[in-house]
Amino acid sequence: MTRPGPRARVASTQIARKSLGQHFLIDKNIVHKIVRLAELQPGETVLEIGPGRGILTEALLDSSGLVVAVELDAALCARLRTTLGGRSNFRLIEGDALAFEYAQVPSPFLVVANLPYYVSTPLLFRLLEERQRIDRLVLMLQEEVVARLAAAPGGKDYGALSIAAQFYCEVRRAFRVSPTCFRPKPRVGSAVVVLTPLAKPRVSVTDEAFFFRVVRAGFAHRRKALLNSLRDEGFEGAPTAAALERAGIDPRRRAETLRLEEFATLADGLLSLNQKKR
Ligand code: SAM
Repeated sequence: MTRPGPRARVASTQIARKSLGQHFLIDKNIVHKIVRLAELQPGETVLEIGPGRGILTEALLDSSGLVVAVELDAALCARLRTTLGGRSNFRLIEGDALAFEYAQVPSPFLVVANLPYYVSTPLLFRLLEERQRIDRLVLMLQEEVVARLAAAPGGKDYGALSIAAQFYCEVRRAFRVSPTCFRPKPRVGSAVVVLTPLAKPRVSVTDEAFFFRVVRAGFAHRRKALLNSLRDEGFEGAPTAAALERAGIDPRRRAETLRLEEFATLADGLLSLNQKKR
């Protein structure tokens, strides 16, 4: 029998599409660490974003109830239908996780995934919108994104993503993962984080959408003083200065120095001044 040459072997394993963030886990120890961290119970439903070649999916199928997997790459979907299609608790959805209708997944569910890094920030914001239906998220991400999720005020990692994650969830950095655990190797370090949605937001605010408008405006020009950044984003100078003073926040401070509670006080102050003006 003639053995297949190198070309045939590559064709049968399909070349990874880096544009889709395809860095496949090859280390089963990491897979088991992720599954252990998820603390899956036999009947639980899991949503996996980007199952890829199915290394994590298979472990999830062994330890949970239904596994719904959303994969964008048609060739990988075909492969998954062949390898895992016979598993009764597997449901594959071919499509974009950003456009996915999360109501299709019976809730509550867990999200366990090695996310495609190129789209991880919008995916995280999307998942936070769905938090009320989610019990726990165990996510492999670029190390820098995990640092942003867990960041405390005062540094370059702290921003709108840190505030959104910490406003809605308990954030726990779990462990780092070396590039050698993937094929092809990513150029960046990776880490696993656990996000546990809180029963209610960490800080109470009058209007959540307005709170996040203030947060985004504060960080829009992160090197500028808060008053200037907010003004550049359409918040009028005089009432903003008044709200900052009322909240006891020096207008020369930058957004990255404000704690969640300070942002909340500022947003509520700005909102009440806006309402009085009407
Ligand atoms: N879970 C696999 C593993 O750990 O080996 C693959 C992880 S790989 C980092 C990311 C996966 O997400 C790839 O399979 C890629 O095709 C898929 N993907 C990329 N963009 C996606 C999107 N917008 N929606 C759903 N899946 C996506």
